[in-house]
Amino acid sequence: MTDAVLVLNAGSSSLKFAVYPDGDGDPAALLRGKIAGIGTAPVFSGRDGAGHSLPSDACMSLPHAADHEALIPALLDWLNSHQGGLTIRAAGHRVVHGGRTQTDPAIVTDALLSELDTLVPLAPLHQPHNLAAIRCVAASAPGLPQVACFDTSFHRTQDKFAQLFALPRALTEEGVIRYGFHGLSYDYIASTLRAHLGDRADGRVIVAHLGNGASMCAIKNRRSVATSMGFTALDGLMMGQRCGALDAGVVLYLMDEKGMSAAEISHLLYNESGLLGVSGISNDMATLQASSAPEARDAIGLFCYRAAAELAALAVAIGGLDALIFTAGIGENSALVRSLICDRLEWMGISLDDGANAKNAKCISAASSPVDVLVIPTDEEVVIARATHGLIHG
Ligand code: ADP
Repeated sequence: MTDAVLVLNAGSSSLKFAVYPDGDGDPAALLRGKIAGIGTAPVFSGRDGAGHSLPSDACMSLPHAADHEALIPALLDWLNSHQGGLTIRAAGHRVVHGGRTQTDPAIVTDALLSELDTLVPLAPLHQPHNLAAIRCVAASAPGLPQVACFDTSFHRTQDKFAQLFALPRALTEEGVIRYGFHGLSYDYIASTLRAHLGDRADGRVIVAHLGNGASMCAIKNRRSVATSMGFTALDGLMMGQRCGALDAGVVLYLMDEKGMSAAEISHLLYNESGLLGVSGISNDMATLQASSAPEARDAIGLFCYRAAAELAALAVAIGGLDALIFTAGIGENSALVRSLICDRLEWMGISLDDGANAKNAKCISAASSPVDVLVIPTDEEVVIARATHGLIHG
């Protein structure tokens, strides 16, 4: 039997998990998996520690009523019987919102859950599912220690001006501020900077987390100084289906002139915009790159223009740039996107080695480039596993 930490990332229709040995140091995942299509047609997929897909006879069989309430106990049972037995000693959860007060991962208590419930209106699409998963684990495995790790925590070091909107103070005091997200990914990248950059790790670094959700973070001394997402994960960069930063006047126009409700506008901005809205083809960057349609070119071009402009704005917060890091699905895999962004930033001292970029090499900047440009795969789960192990073992 192996003592293990379970990491859960619960979304509205998916449950991602990873299992790590409950040990010190930098653990490597024993298993990773995902149950997608919850609520419609759930599908399980899993990979072993070496990254190989699990054969079908080793996969978890899904319970008849495959909702979160049924899936979490079934997952715990399956893990206990997997590979000669994993003993789950603790569960760590990705929780999107920790508000202003949660600056670090925290052991789950009833009081913490009540506090996190009050943040649901700030992240209605994610927070309820994150908290429901914690409650499901508590019901299935009473007494199992649980840890909440927040996507907002890493950004609580942001400069005051990076967190404020130019709105009346009463709204700021009520919590209408720029929280920032993707903090677990930035935390992971920050933890690798010494190994990649040596002494420059404490310098001026911008991390571009470009996935289906996308944001950037300006980091100095390995702490967040400013980030592109704000009050919600809708702000900043153009994304797969989200519009990113938008003139608030557009929202007023949609309400006043087109008679759209809040729910309709929310759906438009979160689900029908971004790469999907501009291309009319797909929210998926790889699909758009494979398309010859001019609308696909426009979507990719706008994505990269907006990313370059945001990067230049973030450099203001840290007074220049020593290193640029690309991460997440697009950042790690799309040489085209990296080159279209960097081509617009030559004036900032960013110059790519095209051969290295085409190969997704770790260092893709030209030898003469004053700014180092790196591709570093992110790993949000290991951040949660480390924090969970650390808190549970004191
Ligand atoms: P999520 O935010 O859902 O975690 P990911 O980090 O997995 O998203 O990123 C998904 C995005 O990465 C998709 O737009 C996908 O097309 C893109 N992507 C993955 N591989 C490639 C590739 N080889 N070329 C271009 N885009 C890619």
